[in-house]
Amino acid sequence: MTASRIVLIRYDEIGLKGKNRQFFESALLKNIKEQLKGMEGLRYSTPRGRIFIVLESDQIDTCLRNLARVPGIASMSSGVEVEPDADIIAQMGIDWIAPLLEQKSDLPFCVKTQRSNKKFPISSPDFNYEVGSRIMKQLHDKGLRVDLTHPEFELEVEIGHERTVAFYNRVPGLGGLPVGSSGQVLTLLSGGIDSPVAAFNIIKRGCRSHFIFFDNQAFLGRGGYDKVLRLAKKLNRFQGQGILYVVPFGDLQVSIRDHCNPSNRVVLYRRMMYRIAQELAQRKGYLGLVTGESIGQVASQTLENLAAVSGLCTTSVFRPLIGTDKVDIVQQAKRIETYEISIEPQPDCCSVFMPPRPVTRSKIPDLERDETRYPWKPLMEKALGDIERIELGKVV
Ligand code: ATP
Ligand code: MG
Repeated sequence: MTASRIVLIRYDEIGLKGKNRQFFESALLKNIKEQLKGMEGLRYSTPRGRIFIVLESDQIDTCLRNLARVPGIASMSSGVEVEPDADIIAQMGIDWIAPLLEQKSDLPFCVKTQRSNKKFPISSPDFNYEVGSRIMKQLHDKGLRVDLTHPEFELEVEIGHERTVAFYNRVPGLGGLPVGSSGQVLTLLSGGIDSPVAAFNIIKRGCRSHFIFFDNQAFLGRGGYDKVLRLAKKLNRFQGQGILYVVPFGDLQVSIRDHCNPSNRVVLYRRMMYRIAQELAQRKGYLGLVTGESIGQVASQTLENLAAVSGLCTTSVFRPLIGTDKVDIVQQAKRIETYEISIEPQPDCCSVFMPPRPVTRSKIPDLERDETRYPWKPLMEKALGDIERIELGKVV
């Protein structure tokens, strides 16, 4: 019996992409190879609608763990390459199921065959029966029973042109689309909980996200910088090749403090963040700005205050979390492992020189009047000229 170990990868949504399918498939394959670069001796093949990786059994756990970070994968399974022979596959099923029946007295199961090789002489339902009945013969008195609608154990067989694979464990992937298939964006990344989750959501839709952080080290020290760098590296594991841009923001904030209406400060800071981010995005050819804003979450995120920043932009502004509740954002942050970093205490630059009563419903003419009172254009040019650029490197 041949028994090469195989990891089988499915990508439902890409399968729906019609003529562009090949483009999406090759982007996904490239990203998978990049994610698994450190692993030796892997062999890839791409039968229709699937990606197969042939590997050693002790590589499977690492492989599945790394693949769980690749957008575009719907689900994965580890399995075994076998002859398309009912006796051999049934024996394999018995070896997998028998240990489970030592712990439980009732196990509903079924066999599910998919046959892309239509020349194979037995139909899928017949093959299910051939394999299933052999397994039942051995194990029915130990508590195994057939249940086609709610099986707890599903023995799956895929009979392809080049190989047949048997497996029983589907692991969900991230879903979404392969990075590189939807262009590049720039996420305004603070050290908070929300913006890393926003970035992740947009990465999952196939965009490569770069990051921009507005830093005020003079007043807040280096803690924010270190934190955002670690967050950006965490996020970069889902995509690779991201860049973090750090903008010195202290001079602008001091000037706003010294010349403008105190209650408008936070919105004025935000307007400068958007202006600078947009300018950088346009220079670099990034096709959208991404933020972690969510309606009403904090005073600066009322509809009026969101309008006061959106109105400045001709570049698209994406707010993937706009309708998401904080509890759900927190849950997602935990899943992508940014939460623990985000909650480390470190003030964001928006909290510097915080007035007693920040405006919740800013009026654009008032903001524009404030902006005639300080030299934002040269300060913006200076900040753009002083940007630090950090390459985040490969996915790992
Ligand atoms: P987060 O948890 O993402 O910090 P928040 O709930 O603290 O969000 P705000 O402080 O109002 O909300 O920030 C709203 C959005 O503005 C952030 O999600 C982020 O996209 C952007 N932002 C805020 N501060 C900065 C900063 N210092 N550098 C870059 N982007 C920032
Ligand atoms: Mg914040």
